[in-house]
Amino acid sequence: FYSEDLTNAAFKHIKLEHGLRQALLENQFLVYYQPKLCLLSGRVLGAEALLRWKHPEEGFISPQDFIPVAEESGLIMEIGEWVLRQACEQAVSWERQGLAFEHIAVNVSGVQVQHEAFVDSVKGNLESSGLQPRRLELELTENFLMKDVEASASLLADLRQLGISIAIDDFGTGYSSLAYLTRFPVNKLKIDRSFIANVLSDEQNKKIAHAIINLGHSLNMKVVAEGIEFGQQLDLLKDKGCDEGQGYLIAKPLPNDEFVDFLKRYDARKLNFRQTKQFGIHHQSITKALA
Ligand code: C2E
Ligand code: MG
Ligand code: MG
Repeated sequence: FYSEDLTNAAFKHIKLEHGLRQALLENQFLVYYQPKLCLLSGRVLGAEALLRWKHPEEGFISPQDFIPVAEESGLIMEIGEWVLRQACEQAVSWERQGLAFEHIAVNVSGVQVQHEAFVDSVKGNLESSGLQPRRLELELTENFLMKDVEASASLLADLRQLGISIAIDDFGTGYSSLAYLTRFPVNKLKIDRSFIANVLSDEQNKKIAHAIINLGHSLNMKVVAEGIEFGQQLDLLKDKGCDEGQGYLIAKPLPNDEFVDFLKRYDARKLNFRQTKQFGIHHQSITKALA
């Protein structure tokens, strides 16, 4: 059974890798955009760019399934570069349409970032798209950054030199060296979705989310919560001082035209802010802001 499983896994891997090469050639990749809100004002701050693979036979394949294969095969270099270019160009087009947003956040893989040409490739993308550096935010995972802290500190400094921002993604799931965290020139911490999912039901998770918010603020960083699905989660995070939020409660990741439509329709003034003691934003209130 063991060897049969191994063969199946190897076969699946080869099939995925072949599929990814095909996807690049046949333009099967898409970038979706998930709105991010300022929790204090309710304004849209921007979006996170999320890669989608629409396979002609199998439909949408999750990035969680194919990113590891793209990383092992090295294809992530080309795919990651494509996502970055798309995201920068789309953000410039939103700007040209006069839409209100501040930044676009792009996920980058450790494999991609470690490459010596990475900083130059970011610089090249900013220049060719015309996107102002302050509008670009790169999300790097905690696990990657903590693997080689000296190398990460120097890489982050080079990236910040370009004028862009950096967020640490999936924060709280890895093993952070707090001493290094103070030395990393990072702008934001993103609390991992797993803590947000249980923030209402689990007292420990609530304490962890609160501790991350305080940690980030004491290091002069902003804190983002992802995976907000319920009004009560949003109320609680806002009450604890979390700066930014995204999640299905606000909107799912959207294709570009739907994201543009969201930006056009969304009106933070229609959010019912002082509705509860914690100024809760409720689901109906978000729907109203979109009406
Ligand atoms: P991530 O960067 O932590 O992205 C957040 C994930 O949570 C996304 O999954 C998003 O669709 C999902 N999400 C957002 N709001 C909610 C919610 O309210 N509830 C739930 N249950 N989920 C929510 P997605 O798009 O499947 O991406 C998964 C991961 O794949 C990302 O995690 C990121 O690590 C990676 N990824 C996605 N796009 C890229 C990319 O362009 N490059 C790289 N290197 N990695 C990417
Ligand atoms: Mg992310
Ligand atoms: Mg995350």
